[in-house]
Amino acid sequence: MKLLLENWRQYINEMEEEVIDTLRIFDFDETIAHTRSETRVKAPDGSEATLANQQEFEDYMSQAAANEGITDFDPIDALIEKGYQIDLSDFSIVKDPEEIIIVTDELKKFPENSKTYIMTARRGNSLGPILAYLDEIGVDSSKVRPIATGGESKGSVIANMIAQKKLPDGTSNIKRIEYYEDSDKNIQDVMNHICPEKLAELTIYKVVKTENGYILQHIGC
Ligand SMILES: [Mg+2]
Repeated sequence: MKLLLENWRQYINEMEEEVIDTLRIFDFDETIAHTRSETRVKAPDGSEATLANQQEFEDYMSQAAANEGITDFDPIDALIEKGYQIDLSDFSIVKDPEEIIIVTDELKKFPENSKTYIMTARRGNSLGPILAYLDEIGVDSSKVRPIATGGESKGSVIANMIAQKKLPDGTSNIKRIEYYEDSDKNIQDVMNHICPEKLAELTIYKVVKTENGYILQHIGC
């Protein structure tokens, strides 16, 4: 949470200095890069599982949360309290990354009047390795602001970013959000926060893996 707050302060300061009307927000895992990160879990009943990708992770966690009566957006902390051992250490590094070029080509553009964020559900200790990886693949990481939500709702974080820039007439000077993401759960969450009150024009680029490589699917509201 502390890291998130420091990012906020930085965000607000920067916004006061520059004309920004577009926020470009990129997820990291399976959006900028495919990695071999796995999550190893041991449940209180002794059963063990290795979750090899985001879908397996979300399926396992939402099933376990349902079994335990947990309703948090991100049930990880509550599951750990219930005695689940959840090893997320692969997500504090960037493990065997494969760049997703259809996304990083866009990431490298840095259009005028826009600000670029990497927003990851990873914990704060992953941000250094992510920025180092960006430099490795030729993205100027000094132009990118990283935000680790630690599993908090990305939709509520983005809605707050828009709200921070309210003008006297009640509208925000953030007019446009471009959001690159692979997770259906996060896409739905962001739409739920932005679309009903049309907080900004939202264009989502959903990263989809096909037999012939990755494609971007446009979703808007
Ligand atoms: Mg992802």
